[in-house]
Amino acid sequence: MNRPQPPIVTPGTFSTPEQPGRPPSDARVLFDGTPATLDKWEADKNPPEPTKWVVKDGTLQCVPGSGYIRTKEEIGDCQLHVEWSAPSKVEGHSQGRGNSGVFLMGQTEIQVLDNYENPTYADGTAGSVYGVNPPHANALRKPGEWQVYDIIFRRPIFKDGKMLDSGRYTVMLNNVVVQDSTPLEGGGGHKGRSHDRPMPDKGPLKLQDHGNPVRYRNIWYRPLPARAVDGGDMGEMTPEAATAKKQQTAKMIREDAAKLQGLPKLRRQMESLCYAPDTATLADSEAGINAWITAVKQVPATGMEAKKGEIMQMREAVDYMTHFKFFPAEFTAKAQIDKIVEGNGWNK
Ligand code: MG
Repeated sequence: MNRPQPPIVTPGTFSTPEQPGRPPSDARVLFDGTPATLDKWEADKNPPEPTKWVVKDGTLQCVPGSGYIRTKEEIGDCQLHVEWSAPSKVEGHSQGRGNSGVFLMGQTEIQVLDNYENPTYADGTAGSVYGVNPPHANALRKPGEWQVYDIIFRRPIFKDGKMLDSGRYTVMLNNVVVQDSTPLEGGGGHKGRSHDRPMPDKGPLKLQDHGNPVRYRNIWYRPLPARAVDGGDMGEMTPEAATAKKQQTAKMIREDAAKLQGLPKLRRQMESLCYAPDTATLADSEAGINAWITAVKQVPATGMEAKKGEIMQMREAVDYMTHFKFFPAEFTAKAQIDKIVEGNGWNK
């Protein structure tokens, strides 16, 4: 019951064809349809020159020939939401149609392309990690309609020249999974097999100018907490990180227990032992349960029914602690409580 609660995030709303949705409460907004949010971007070629891309009808539109744009903000591991729309007037074919791209940390491209009924090479289609991995599905809507990317990005982690985590992309295109924890394999790129390589911790998010007036809207991200491999406590846990996290939770619950009295204190102490052993807490729990048993034994027979709920609850807790060996085998509380339960005929 008392392990740390997750932070509260008020969810946003979904987009409709006519209107972009609202981001969740803790999102960092990169473009919300207003000219003011264009200030969060700059030209990639000669920063800090302002971008020549334009805000039109609440959308951010690529001006062909003006070059990539990038955020002024540097972004690392994140959940990224991007909506884009290829021109409704279909022009060009293969890679020449509605081509743009989302570059996390400016390094690796999640392809933006209008390959709706427009065949091209698989690892260059929308939702591909460009040049590395084709999407698992072509879930595109027609050109001119809004396409939605939800991307979970984990950068590669190198330490002392050794790769600890290759980094990963998980991508949903219009709510369809198109990348599922795809390893990064370095930067990717055109006609070049890529390989793992160190990358910075953060970098600007870039959008590609590939000569097509692709539009964007509703761009936001949420930074993700560090992975265990990077000193945090998310993702795959090393045994050391798992132990450290359990010890931290146990400590927090013990600090709470210290502020309580009687049964609530005892229950909290027992709970803390499920996360990490502690000699003093175990001794306290043992003494607390024995004192409780002594008190229960002094309750007159006529008062036992009123105590039933408390006793059955304690039996359940002690059974649990004994079964999973948080209490030592020689600890007799379980047998004593069982005897009280049987003596009152509550076992039937
Ligand atoms: Mg592209």
